Amino acid sequence: MNKAVLEFSSRAENVAFARVTVATFVSQVDFTLPDLEEIKVAVSEAVSNAIIHGYENNPDQVVRLEISIADEYMELVVIDRGIGIEDIEKALEPAFSTDPERMGLGFSFMQSFMDKFNVQSEPGQGTRVKMSRRAGATRRAAVPEQ
Ligand code: ATP
Ligand code: MG
Repeated sequence: MNKAVLEFSSRAENVAFARVTVATFVSQVDFTLPDLEEIKVAVSEAVSNAIIHGYENNPDQVVRLEISIADEYMELVVIDRGIGIEDIEKALEPAFSTDPERMGLGFSFMQSFMDKFNVQSEPGQGTRVKMSRRAGATRRAAVPEQ
């Protein structure tokens, strides 16, 4: 197991930093370029959610990203200590958003691009999104594990 932990300010400009850092680290695993593109989308969606929803766009909070890789495998955990999610099941529904301006598709992308996907959240405590993907496997969208 090879691990990296990254903590950064909850600023929109750090979404690209997180995405590129994850892609660089997980490129040690045998992912294809299209695989890496999908992993980057999942990272962007999870980190954006932490910033936009978790921290309500307050730029001075901290987002934590834990990346682990092993042979043919990567796992990502994105953690915020923000407002948390009242109803996780509802939040995971495609096209559900608490913001009428948004599409509500971030969690759907994460699930379709990952093999395993899990959200833990407590209102007032924060949110932890864990997702993993294997290289070379025939892909099927993850079913959320509660
Ligand atoms: P989009 O991702 O398409 O811009 P969205 O962010 O609203 O829209 P999802 O990413 O699927 O859609 O998230 C669904 C809902 O879950 C959000 O509207 C928000 O209410 C809640 N949510 C997601 N992540 C967090 C988080 N880290 N903290 C608090 N609430 C969250
Ligand atoms: Mg989102």
